Amino acid sequence: MRIGVLALQGDFREHQRAIESLGEKAVRVRTEAELAEVDALVIPGGESTAISNLAKSFGLLEPLRNFAKTKPVLGTCAGLIMLSDEVEGAIAGQEFIGGLPIKTSRNAYGGQTHSFEADVDFGGQKERVAFIRAPKILDSSRAEVIARLDGAAVAVKSGNLFGASFHPEITGAKILHKLFIQAVRENQTK
Ligand code: GLN
Repeated sequence: MRIGVLALQGDFREHQRAIESLGEKAVRVRTEAELAEVDALVIPGGESTAISNLAKSFGLLEPLRNFAKTKPVLGTCAGLIMLSDEVEGAIAGQEFIGGLPIKTSRNAYGGQTHSFEADVDFGGQKERVAFIRAPKILDSSRAEVIARLDGAAVAVKSGNLFGASFHPEITGAKILHKLFIQAVRENQTK
């Protein structure tokens, strides 16, 4: 099983390490040919406007949209924005991958100086993660909520797609990656 990490911009190295620390192979994806070689994809945090522009100029938007229709994808922070069906605060012309039936608001947890770490609740199991210029999930009513912070949804799942407002890979959190890897395994035996 090969898990790809979209390596256009953002902290793809940390995601690669997080996946490898759980014993799975993680490879960088920058081209359509590389995307075709992986069973699942992680879209890291960083800056969604940059990821969107680069995906457009690398000819990756359509391939990514098609990939997300059948294969597991995990998007964190900017990656969550890329996977959202509806985005508040997008810049003019910003394009998304979509697929997650949620509404998110860019930078709604505040700017860089409002970054914080917090213990989020995965159904009773708590884990420390980082929120950096993080998007808020405004509407998760059509998705399954997998983690909350003070009652608000901060990680969701819908079919094969997973998304989180936070960065798990910075604090060494593992639950989200474990859940994702489990979903990738299940998708392969289908
Ligand atoms: N606010 C950023 C964006 O709009 C996301 C920040 C992050 O990924 N840490 O893309």
